[in-house]
Amino acid sequence: MRQWRASTGRGCAPFARLEGMQEFNGRSIWAVGRNYGAHAKELGNEVPDSPMIFLKSGATAVAPGVVQLPDFSSDVHHEVELALRFGADFQFDAVGVALDLTARDLQNVLKEKKHPWTLAKSFRGSCPLSGFRPLQLERNQQFRVQLWINDVLRQDGHTKDLIFQPEVLREHVLRHFPVEPGDVLLTGTPSGVAKLEPGDRARARVTLNASWTVEAEWSFT
Ligand code: ZN
Repeated sequence: MRQWRASTGRGCAPFARLEGMQEFNGRSIWAVGRNYGAHAKELGNEVPDSPMIFLKSGATAVAPGVVQLPDFSSDVHHEVELALRFGADFQFDAVGVALDLTARDLQNVLKEKKHPWTLAKSFRGSCPLSGFRPLQLERNQQFRVQLWINDVLRQDGHTKDLIFQPEVLREHVLRHFPVEPGDVLLTGTPSGVAKLEPGDRARARVTLNASWTVEAEWSFT
């Protein structure tokens, strides 16, 4: 069953149809919190000493297009992230870009109560996700991750600043969780997270080099 959803009848943004881009068809989106020191600090969190993993249902994935913000949060934040796909041999075999949408108001309440984050992280539509561009990842290959909101650059990070590099995260997730081929790993967000408003337009980009990028756009209602 395909779970990667075009959100409305208006169809996907053209990026989803770029030649060679593949649709998300995994079940689970494994995500890591606080993986850039500057972002952990902007939210007042300790920098962790082992990866802090949470799960977003694969059914939260939304193809480029329109995303409806939930009516039960008044503070949904964008978190742009490099998305790596697990291949048949559980090596990463493709790259995309995601927005790990987070209901920050709910998350703060859940944190205080020491409750799980599911409501704040895995609500319907909480993972705008690009198509995937095949790439055999090499060790220590680094990417730039950027997000523009209404054409203003709001997040601009580089995976060299990750606390836990993709290979460390891959081994950690495979050791503990029932990962399946097609699943995706979100690698954490750089600083600059902020609230999304209805009417905002987001453009997310992952860059390996001048000729290798993945890009996607969403608008919010
Ligand atoms: Zn995140």
